[in-house]
Amino acid sequence: TFRAWWVSKETDASGTAMQTASVRELRDSDLGAGDTLISVQYSSINYKDGLALCGRPGVVRSWPLIPGIDLAGTVEASDSGAWSPGDRVVLTGAGLGESSHGGLSQRARVDGSALVRVPDALGPLRTAAIGTAGFTAMLSVLAVERHGVSPADGPVLVTGAAGGVGSVAVAVLSRLGFEVVASTGRADSEGEYLSALGASQILDRAALLEPGKPMQSQRYAAVVDSVGSHTLVNAIAQLKDGGVATACGLAQGSDLPGTVLPFILRGVSLAGINSVYAPLPLRQEAWARLERDLDLDLLDGMTEVIPLAAAKDSAERILAGGIRGRTVVDVNA
Ligand code: NAP
Repeated sequence: TFRAWWVSKETDASGTAMQTASVRELRDSDLGAGDTLISVQYSSINYKDGLALCGRPGVVRSWPLIPGIDLAGTVEASDSGAWSPGDRVVLTGAGLGESSHGGLSQRARVDGSALVRVPDALGPLRTAAIGTAGFTAMLSVLAVERHGVSPADGPVLVTGAAGGVGSVAVAVLSRLGFEVVASTGRADSEGEYLSALGASQILDRAALLEPGKPMQSQRYAAVVDSVGSHTLVNAIAQLKDGGVATACGLAQGSDLPGTVLPFILRGVSLAGINSVYAPLPLRQEAWARLERDLDLDLLDGMTEVIPLAAAKDSAERILAGGIRGRTVVDVNA
């Protein structure tokens, strides 16, 4: 047997459905379909894992389910043709922990087609520390680059900066030579942390949270946003001519209460980021760039490692906006 988190849906006496999560002893026969069996070493806590472990809707689409949208581990057996026993692999998204059994488990059976080799320079712990959040930060940086924005064009605003996506985005952008403005609701406690990651200015997120004018002073060449709602709309309104904002998250809200004015008067663009169904070539490009452009000391400094049983506590903290950087789950601890 092996240990895993297990999310199930039960109906109480009044007929109300409730999602509960607990650590269970499972067998390989409890795992789903897939051509590759993995001995998992690490998973991580992303915002989505917070939702799944705390019984909130929107992530788990099949019950009962092992949650965990990330895993890093070693191939035990594979019929995929692409992988052999002993290969070190990482999987983020692709339905893991949403529609198929996920990574908060000592074992997983998955499709080999979405796996990526763990970059040698990173190893499994750091790869899990990057996880979906860091991978998404890199997809956002790649979108900024594809739009043609370079450090000479002006500063980049990163919202939700002390969170997982935000922390990796700040570290990577500053390493690439961008002037980074970090927006956070925790300037007092996390200002120093964000400066150490490379932010040259810390902005109190209160400046972006409320409805603002449709066109504001032009400040940023690009925006990497994981917050959505008024924050993203204000950030778009502060883009320079031809700038780009990437949208990956909804920490403030999933609404987009703005106008088309910045788009039609300043030619700015909005680039959507979906890490879950990123095609394999893009996954490989993003991991190669993370290996090259993320400072390992900074990554280690933003990472906390917890045992499997502590995942629920971290899930509650991430939903309350109280996690700094990234949390890795050592599933064998
Ligand atoms: P996280 O670690 O919790 O980071 C989110 C950050 O947003 C928080 O640390 C906080 O930063 C800020 N925040 C929280 N509540 C807020 C509020 N009410 N108003 C304004 N800012 C708020 O979560 P994460 O794992 O980085 O994920 C961030 C978002 O991106 C989530 O919505 C997640 O679902 C989404 N996401 C999407 C994809 C994709 O493929 N599209 C992939 C990964 C993540 P400060 O304390 O610094 O203000």
